[in-house]
Order: sequence, then structure tokens, then C-alpha cells
Amino acid sequence: MTHPCIFKSSKPEPLPNLSKDVVTHVPLHTFTEEEIMIKEMVKKFAQERVVPLVQKMDEEAKLDESLLKGLFEQGLMSIDLDPAYGGTGASFFSTILVVEELAKVDPSVSLVCELQNTFINKLLTTYGTEEQKRTYLPRLSKDMMGSICLTEPGSGSDAFSLKTCAEKKGDYYIINGSKMWISFAEQAGVFFVMANANPSAGYKGITCFIVDRNTEGLHVGKKENKLGIRATSTCPVTFENVKVPESNILGKFGHGYKYAIEMLNTGRIGISAQMLGLAQGCFDQTLPYTKQRNQFGKSIFEFQGMQHQIAQVATQIEAARLLTYNAARLVEAGKPFIKEASMAKYYTAEVATLTTSKCIEWMGGVGFTKDYPIEKYYRDCKIGTIYEGTSNIQLNTIAKCIAQEY
Ligand SMILES: Cc1cc2nc3c(=O)[nH]c(=O)nc-3n(C[C@H](O)[C@H](O)[C@H](O)COP(=O)(O)OP(=O)(O)OC[C@H]3O[C@@H](n4cnc5c(N)ncnc54)[C@H](O)[C@@H]3O)c2cc1C
Repeated sequence: MTHPCIFKSSKPEPLPNLSKDVVTHVPLHTFTEEEIMIKEMVKKFAQERVVPLVQKMDEEAKLDESLLKGLFEQGLMSIDLDPAYGGTGASFFSTILVVEELAKVDPSVSLVCELQNTFINKLLTTYGTEEQKRTYLPRLSKDMMGSICLTEPGSGSDAFSLKTCAEKKGDYYIINGSKMWISFAEQAGVFFVMANANPSAGYKGITCFIVDRNTEGLHVGKKENKLGIRATSTCPVTFENVKVPESNILGKFGHGYKYAIEMLNTGRIGISAQMLGLAQGCFDQTLPYTKQRNQFGKSIFEFQGMQHQIAQVATQIEAARLLTYNAARLVEAGKPFIKEASMAKYYTAEVATLTTSKCIEWMGGVGFTKDYPIEKYYRDCKIGTIYEGTSNIQLNTIAKCIAQEY
């Protein structure tokens, strides 16, 4: 069945009450009508289309293709992209709400939307030439995923010590090198590859190249067998004398490092939303059990020792939500947001770890089995402290921002 596109038709009204001066006073749970509509539609999509597939996709470590098709059809792969390029034309905040809603039922599926929206589409929209935008964005909204190739075996947190190089030969570049941990490499039709085209300039030689999947010399390696978010593919990608025209440089020569930093800054809010949804979804699926399970003649929820723990976790989830929404609203208002994005990602990943661990404890033995979805959230949450900058790297960024303030 073809699902009607949920919100492609309407261009959003500008957000009310969001002038740069008042943004910090807007209640963070105040949504526009469009945001409410999107949230409700995605909730329905998640329940009807995602829930039945979650366990199978986790066990088989494979994203269901019909589900990916559904995400495209619903306009969820290009949420805040201009309709002129096939996008839905909603707000950045809507993207955050979508990622949160999907992560409540499956953090893997939420990453599909998160990466495409906050990283791939944004990278092209912000720095691509008009021709590059016209070539790739309509496909990225319709039926093609993109992958970002930054990390290498020898360069993770120290991303800009990367060794992949691009050598100029006439009006072509020849790319050689190995990338690791590349999300959705199995599905991607296009790769955004960070390669150093002028190693003598250090990190200022790093340039972003657009490389089509079928380019000779591009090899996608064996998928990693992961602890969590197993339905996402994560693969090594190697480049062996890969020839790309000069016109495939995204943005400016030598600006790749800047683009990566900027995309990671907004991407972190997306990961924060993923961890937030994960924590809330896990909490929501656990609480009914604590009310039904009786021990010592009453429900385990009635013990004050349990209630205090539950209240503490609920408070921390709410604090994580406020940090996430605040960072997203700052982006929309054009205000500085780097510190707030790192704080949101760092804190929300911590909260997701605490929540999932506590939920297993609250469910006792059954929480430890695969008969309930809780152990999956526990496995899925761990990635929140690793990708798009580890928790230590977020703390480094927060500390750097604080150092500039005092
Ligand atoms: C599932 C998954 C998907 C991914 N998807 C992508 C992708 O699509 N594209 C891509 O390019 N990359 C991707 N990555 C890579 C990811 O961004 C890196 O794994 C991450 O940046 C950490 O790098 P590393 O694994 O090399 O760890 P390391 O950098 O080796 O870190 C190991 C430990 O050392 C600590 N550490 C390192 N430096 C410092 C420091 N200066 N101060 C304090 N502590 C420090 C870290 O916090 C961490 O605890 C993905 C990774 C995973 C696991």
C-alpha cells in the first residue's frame, strides 16, 4: 500500500514567538501546529510500520527495505529540505521530533532519518553548487541514501589526522585510502568522502569529495557485527585509485574539516534526540510492568524505593528533553548552539544509559531476556556515547566553550 505523504504539501509557517531576543523564554514544549501534526503522523507510522519489524531487523541485523521505502514515501528522509529539491519543507525542530519519535520504537530506524537529514542533506544544501544540489538532493529525498566517510582505522576522535589522500591529475582527483565505521554504506548511493588533497597544509588540505557508489575502485567491506543498532549497516569503505572530476569537490577546496565540524555540531542534536527517544521508549515500555507485577502482596510500583528511582529517571529524561529541544531551537533562531548541542548529546547519552539499565533492573529477570524489548534498548543506547564525538569529546567541546566565556 502506498502511504500518502504526510506533510509534503504544506510549506511551514515561520515559527511564532521565535525572534532571536525571546527564544530563551519560549516554553520548550510549545510546538507549532505543523510540529504537532508531524509528531502524531510519525508516531502512527512508527506503531504501524516499524514496531512489527523491530525484533526481526535486530536479529537479522538488516534494515527492512520496504520500511526504508516507506520513510522516503512519507517525506521523512528530507524533512527540512526545500520542496524545490523534493524535500518536505518542514523545520529543523520537526526533524528532531521525528528522530525522537522513531527512536522510541527503534533507534536504528531513527538513525536512518537522523543521518540523512541532519548530515547528508544539510551538507549538500549548505555547501553544494546548484548543479550538485540538482543532481543529488531530489534522489536523496526520493530513494537514495548517502554516507559520510570521515573516520579511518587510525583517526577517530582525532578525525583530522586522516590519511586518505586525493591527488590532482589534470581536472581529476585520484583518491586512495581506507575509511571505517561508515553508517549505511551497504545502502548508500553516494559517499561524501573527506580526503586530504594537500597534506603539506595539514588539516587545511582536507577536502570533501562526492563519490558515486558505482565509481570504479570504491569497495564496501563486510558489515560489522555490532552490539546495538544492529539494523543499521556499518562497514569499512576503501578507495583504490578512485577517479573523480574536480567538479565533484563539495564546496571549497581545503574546507572539508570545517564542513565536518559544522555538520557534526548540528548532527549531535540529532543523536541527542535519538537517545532521548530511546530513553523515553524504554521507560514507557517498562512502567506498565511495574504496576502489574506483584511482590509482597502489592505492585512493585507501590514500594517507595521503586517510586524514588522511577521519579529520578523521569526527571532526568525531562531534563534531557529540555536540553535537546533548547539546542534545536537555538539552531532555528540562528543563535550560537555549539556548547548546548554538546551538552545535550553528552547528557542525553548518559540518561539513556541510566534509564535502560534501571528499566532492566525494575523488570527483574524478564527484563534480562529477549521476550521483552528492554534489553535491546540497553544495547542500542551504548552508541550514544561513541559516535558523532565520544562523551569525552563532548566534554572537551563544552570546556572549550566555557573557557572562552570566562
Ligand atoms: C556504529 C557506528 C557508526 C558510525 N558511523 C560513522 C559514519 O557514518 N561516518 C564516520 O565517518 N564515522 C562513523 N563512526 C565513527 C565514530 O564517529 C568514531 O567511532 C568515534 O568518533 C570515536 O572514534 P574511535 O572509535 O576511533 O575511538 P577513539 O578516538 O580511539 O577513542 C577511544 C577512547 O579514547 C577517548 N579519547 C580519545 N581522544 C580523547 C581526548 N582528546 N580526550 C579524552 N578522551 C579521549 C574517547 O573518548 C574514547 O573513550 C561510527 C562509529 C560507530 C561505532
